[in-house]
Amino acid sequence: MEKCTFCIQRTRKGLYPACVEICPTGSRKFGNLLDKDSEIRYVLENKRVFKFKEDLNTQPNFFYFYGV
Ligand code: SF4
Repeated sequence: MEKCTFCIQRTRKGLYPACVEICPTGSRKFGNLLDKDSEIRYVLENKRVFKFKEDLNTQPNFFYFYGV
């Protein structure tokens, strides 16, 4: 993730990041955490979710979730 820009050139236009848009399995999600009706909020509230190296307390807004 070091060089990921979250496709700012796309998301500023209201588009999804390229990797989210082309992912054939829909395993990547992207959205507004402040929107309580968004898909990303649903995932965070209903799936098993974790962050890498959470103990470092850097508070990344990048999450990993299990499909079940
Ligand atoms: S395609 Fe995905 S991984 Fe690459 S910069 Fe865009 S959001 Fe980041």
